[in-house]
Amino acid sequence: MNEQFSDIFTETACPSQEQLMAYVQDQLSPEERHKVEAHLADCEMCSEAVEGLMAIRQKEQIPAWLRQAKWNILQQLRRKTHKKRKVNFYLYIAVVALIIVFLALALFWMVHIFNTAR
Ligand SMILES: [Zn+2]
Repeated sequence: MNEQFSDIFTETACPSQEQLMAYVQDQLSPEERHKVEAHLADCEMCSEAVEGLMAIRQKEQIPAWLRQAKWNILQQLRRKTHKKRKVNFYLYIAVVALIIVFLALALFWMVHIFNTAR
């Protein structure tokens, strides 16, 4: 199976993976580049391989934009935690206000009961 596969590979004169990699990285001469492009047009296997290599190349480029993305996420998180703290602060105020209202009502109710009992 493997031998058959490599036979097909050589029969269709596919560029080597090194060549495809060089093509993806723009390291081929215009002539070589043209040859690879012409081959890619009618070789599904190689165009898929190039797609894969492009993906790898994009992965290699991750650090630069990842740092940016991380920074953006960190800033968003910071903004979110800030908002969260504000919400918690308001919640705290609301709870305190409710406790005060409840205590006032309880006090009023106790005074009312005390007065009617007399
Ligand atoms: Zn091919």
